[in-house]
Amino acid sequence: MKQPLLDMRGIVKSFSGVRALNGVSIQLEKGEVLSVCGENGSGKSTLMKVLSGVWPFASYEGEIFFEGSQVKASSIRDTEVLGIVIIHQELALVKELSVLENIFLGNELGSFARLDDEAMYRRTSELLARVKLDVLPDTLVRDLGVGQQQLVEIAKALNKNVKLLILDEPTSSLTSTEIEILLNIVSELKAQGIACIYISHKLDEVLSLSDWVAVIRDGEHIATKAAADLTQNDIIGMMVGRQLDEL
Ligand code: ADP
Ligand code: MG
Repeated sequence: MKQPLLDMRGIVKSFSGVRALNGVSIQLEKGEVLSVCGENGSGKSTLMKVLSGVWPFASYEGEIFFEGSQVKASSIRDTEVLGIVIIHQELALVKELSVLENIFLGNELGSFARLDDEAMYRRTSELLARVKLDVLPDTLVRDLGVGQQQLVEIAKALNKNVKLLILDEPTSSLTSTEIEILLNIVSELKAQGIACIYISHKLDEVLSLSDWVAVIRDGEHIATKAAADLTQNDIIGMMVGRQLDEL
């Protein structure tokens, strides 16, 4: 059998004794898109935070394998080195800094560490073009709209050696044009072999973008199914635990 890019096995995560995740397992191949669906509070963000090293390895049970090696991260820096990059639900850019400064912030260990100012400017312009964001590299982030900031986050991720991009509810505050740009970027990344985990309540986006849909309910993994075999009602039914005609 082919070795998956990502293999999360039996993840259990508790907060003060309360189980937020109760043995969740997901797998993903290179270049695939997996959507994780579930109601608010079902554990989606917690699963992604476990994966991206927000909490140290010792704080959860279960195992994570990436490219065949077990991940024992103690910070998000550790997972970024592996190529796992998360864009959180809450945007994390520094508003008083420029787009360029944000893109290179915290990247001093990365492959562009020794770029001079001119090269960084050029690199930022290229990344902005890739996410179709028509602003100058020295624009302050506080002067951008929320959707534009989301695109800067993606540009920042693309500046890293990303193999798996995690987008946690990226479109909740975007305009329809921005959503279209973002969905196109995910498709382009997929074509380049970059995998994506996508979290969204917008099931039309989920079905158009994903290869697989995993459903979580109250910290339990309900199922992972091929998106092509699912309707929006199927997903909602699994999310709430009932057939829709019973509701
Ligand atoms: P989702 O992203 O699916 O809306 P979360 O993963 O954010 O859900 O939350 C799952 C459960 O874990 C919720 O009950 C939430 O209150 C709890 N939880 C998440 N993060 C923390 C935390 N840092 N401390 C305590 N409880 C948390
Ligand atoms: Mg969440």
